[in-house]
Amino acid sequence: MAERVLPNERSIERQDAAGEQLLAELQDEVRAAGLWAPHVPPEAGGTGTGFLDYAYLNEHIGRSMWAQRVFGCQAPDAGNSEILHLFGTDEQKERWLRPLVSGEIRSFFSMTEPEVPGSDPTTLRTRAVRDGDEWVIDGHKWFSSGAEGAAFGIVMAVTDPEAGPYARATQIIVPADTPGVEIVKPIMVMGHEGKGWSTHCEVRYTGVRVPVANTLGAEGAGFLIAQKRLGPGRIHHVMRWLGQMQRAFELMCEYALGRETSMGPLADKQTIQNWIADSYAEIQACRFMTLDAAHKIDGGDEARVEVSAIKFFAAKVLVDVIDRAVQVHGARGLTDETPLASMLMQARGARIYDGPDEVHRQVVARRILKAFASGEGWHFQ
Ligand SMILES: Cc1cc2nc3c(=O)[nH]c(=O)nc-3n(C[C@H](O)[C@H](O)[C@H](O)COP(=O)(O)OP(=O)(O)OC[C@H]3O[C@@H](n4cnc5c(N)ncnc54)[C@H](O)[C@@H]3O)c2cc1C
Repeated sequence: MAERVLPNERSIERQDAAGEQLLAELQDEVRAAGLWAPHVPPEAGGTGTGFLDYAYLNEHIGRSMWAQRVFGCQAPDAGNSEILHLFGTDEQKERWLRPLVSGEIRSFFSMTEPEVPGSDPTTLRTRAVRDGDEWVIDGHKWFSSGAEGAAFGIVMAVTDPEAGPYARATQIIVPADTPGVEIVKPIMVMGHEGKGWSTHCEVRYTGVRVPVANTLGAEGAGFLIAQKRLGPGRIHHVMRWLGQMQRAFELMCEYALGRETSMGPLADKQTIQNWIADSYAEIQACRFMTLDAAHKIDGGDEARVEVSAIKFFAAKVLVDVIDRAVQVHGARGLTDETPLASMLMQARGARIYDGPDEVHRQVVARRILKAFASGEGWHFQ
């Protein structure tokens, strides 16, 4: 990371021909080092050695926003390959999982719709209706990250509107070149349109026909699979955020020491010292909360309270720490002379994707209150 990725991240971020060439070279170095696709085990084509190992690795990979691509474990391909590995048929694995994990193709995950709240996916409107041995899909999605140039998407569609709220939807593999799939446009996000893997696309599905054999997992299991995808994935997100926080923290401390005022370095100011102390305490709290949740999950616990707690807590700390680092750098913090401005922009989404802060707070509070209401109470451990 220090020698090869961080010095080259500007080139990767530009996504021009030279940047893509460099990215391919770095990916080959990662393959040669035996670290490619660490999110899935060797039988799925990766080099993963378990949930906790990957969690720790993410703290390092997370230092650069682009390093997931270098290591072949970028969103949304990583989550898609995890669910294909867990729920895919042999044929689906051969056709989609193998080339996805090897890096020959990219994918997208198409759940969120502009017309209904993504944080309450029981409201999804995209429909898949069975016609013989085919699904016919009609719907409108957005924020399908990486859809531009992807080979296929995993689309969440309502297959049985009469079923209970969590049994209505199914995940269906849709090749991107199927007639009726229209990548309308990459959405401008905070002034950036992105390109290929860095886009968040609006996608329309009009009379899209795919074989029923493209159903991922059981019919009606869309929510269950989405939960499988998101649960442990949140730990990995937060571990990467920890990498971002630590990098911002280091930049803040180094700059505060080096920036001389007529009355000594910025580091002598108490406000700056408060930011450093608060950031230290908050980052360390996030680390321990995340590792605690990771160890509980590794021990077979779902750790719903712990996972939701770190999701909203760490997302806020991430934004706050980077913001303080920007402030310490003054105008330079807004330029591309440091990675901070770009980090801040990327960080803001963390409080929204994979469940907004408010939803995770609700999960934490409801579960704890339920434990108290039952007379059990909540025992910190
Ligand atoms: C960078 C980025 C990448 C993304 N990538 C993908 C992707 O690849 N595929 C995909 O399908 N989706 C993706 N998304 C979409 C993401 O999953 C949704 O944005 C998220 O689920 C929230 O849905 P929404 O935007 O419709 O907001 P809404 O659900 O409409 O919520 C709006 C706001 O309402 C408030 N709110 C919601 N629920 C509650 C509650 N229970 N209590 C109190 N307040 C509440 C919150 O403040 C919330 O921010 C991505 C989003 C971002 C930002």
